[in-house]
Amino acid sequence: MDKYVDVGTFMTGLSILGDKMSENGKVVIDQVIEMLNDFEAADVKPVVYGEWVPIYDEHLGTLYKCSACSFIRDPYILKEETYCACCGAYMNGADNLRKST
Ligand SMILES: [Zn+2]
Repeated sequence: MDKYVDVGTFMTGLSILGDKMSENGKVVIDQVIEMLNDFEAADVKPVVYGEWVPIYDEHLGTLYKCSACSFIRDPYILKEETYCACCGAYMNGADNLRKST
């Protein structure tokens, strides 16, 4: 199974580990960090999660706004969607409607 990580955070952890090691250990850690810098990035993008936030329009009634990008959706279309059609944020359809307070 592939596992994608934040390589910057990983390299920071390696540097901290290298600071605790002998000179030979630090050399190895520096080589690993150099190898990571030379690796080509995988073609992935972060998963964005959002929820539908109810808003009220005096002419159209209750609509829903994506919490990630502010895209506005009609509640009838919303029930079929698991992703925001505008930004791709993962939604859980009508089950992920923020409750009005
Ligand atoms: Zn969105």
